[in-house]
Amino acid sequence: MKQLYIAGRWLDGTATTTTRSPSDRNDVVGEYASAGAEEAALAVAAAHAAAPGWALSGVQMRADALDAIGSELLARKSELGTLLAREEGKTLPEAIGEVARAGAIFKFYAQEALRVRGDRLASVRPGVDVDVTREPVGVVGIIAPWNFPIAIPAWKIAPALAYGNTVVFKPAEIVPGSAWALAEIISRAGLPPGVFNLAMGPGRVVGEAMLNDARVHAISFTGSTSTGERVMLACARRRARVQLEMGGKNPLVVLADADLDVAVNAAIQGSFFSTGQRCTASSRLIVDEAIYGRFVDAMAGRMAALKVGNALEQGIDIGPVVDASQLEQDLSYIGIAKQEGARLVCGGERLQRDTEGYFLSPALFADCAPGMRHAREEIFGPVASVIPAKGYEHALALANDTEFGLTAGICTTSLKHATHFKRHAKAGMVMVNLPTAGVDYHVPFGGTKASSYGPREQGSNAVEFFATVKTSYTSA
Ligand code: NAP
Repeated sequence: MKQLYIAGRWLDGTATTTTRSPSDRNDVVGEYASAGAEEAALAVAAAHAAAPGWALSGVQMRADALDAIGSELLARKSELGTLLAREEGKTLPEAIGEVARAGAIFKFYAQEALRVRGDRLASVRPGVDVDVTREPVGVVGIIAPWNFPIAIPAWKIAPALAYGNTVVFKPAEIVPGSAWALAEIISRAGLPPGVFNLAMGPGRVVGEAMLNDARVHAISFTGSTSTGERVMLACARRRARVQLEMGGKNPLVVLADADLDVAVNAAIQGSFFSTGQRCTASSRLIVDEAIYGRFVDAMAGRMAALKVGNALEQGIDIGPVVDASQLEQDLSYIGIAKQEGARLVCGGERLQRDTEGYFLSPALFADCAPGMRHAREEIFGPVASVIPAKGYEHALALANDTEFGLTAGICTTSLKHATHFKRHAKAGMVMVNLPTAGVDYHVPFGGTKASSYGPREQGSNAVEFFATVKTSYTSA
């Protein structure tokens, strides 16, 4: 059994969980310890005890540790990618890409650790100097989702450690294997005991314990908007620093002047890759009525060639849905879309394959009205809705008519419309002639409205969350 990692030691939990591959329910991925409230408190205590020492550690030591973790992730990307694909269900190339991304992120923050900047300013008072410096926040609780079980923890853990914080990491319950593999690598990077702790276990027990413990100074959360609101309230009650990355219902606008191949590629990748289980998925396709029919036909043609199957097999485009409850949610929204009067163009069927897994053919709904629930609410599966638009202004208004604001995309050959859209789309990330999903690892990531709260993740901006600013005045 794979154990918890607390205060530099491997420990049992209060329970054990056994995970199975969503591609094949007969394939047991592993057996993992699951923490209860007691182990969660131990992990927080360990991080709390280690925080003062780590805050004063030399940045070379931090940089070396992060670089070593990054190198090992890169060297083992095929092996760890295979584990990730088996456990979470994204295809092997996507999973290997995710591990490589995590490796690059650790290496990026190894360098960032050496670049923490301050400022010296002139005071308004004669003979006084003003210094603005950055200090660690203290203990950071990291609560992560299942859909990027290595990359998302990496882009939280790496900056937390780089800027001198200690960490308690709680992965999503259904992906302990990927989290454990990452933690095992971190455990061998030479960090002092307690600087990094792994507490696998249920959100309602381990997550809540972290939220309500005054020794946790900051929470970095990624997950659904409903859980995020709960996290925000708990942090507000005890005035803890909080960063939330939550759901999305991302529009991809296709204008009449778009290159149809570019637009269809963007829509297929954005809507269905990673089985549509991305916060940045292009689940609302807003298409100018002048090319609407041609676009829907081209999408259906491309979708017919997509291969759905076991994530570990060669040549698969779309792996399984992650688990039974997500599959149920997808099928329920497909039912809602039909009841709402949307036209099912293709897909949306539970598929039987030669392994026992949660396979769903990607679904395309056309003739969707913007108010329909399936076209407004996050489904988090391989389901896309096409909404007709009357020209650019209408398409922009439809794109912004959502409670979410993570990514927004436009396919057009008009520089004027692309520039206008970049300015006026109400989203944290805007894509032109690209899928709404698929972002770089070294630049800010985050959204607006119900999608995000707090300073941006990723890139140099991460310092805004993982360090606090101190202003000191000195009279000479
Ligand atoms: P989720 O159900 O909200 O869970 C996210 C994390 O919160 C998990 O570790 C979960 O633990 C934990 N949790 C659940 N209840 C909790 C509580 N009461 N207190 C503290 N922690 C709690 O989300 P998910 O199903 O894993 O992920 C899918 C969602 O994440 C989608 O909405 C997607 O859009 C969003 N997402 C957003 C981004 C982004 O950057 N904006 C990126 C990826 C995913 P358990 O697993 O043990 O329940």
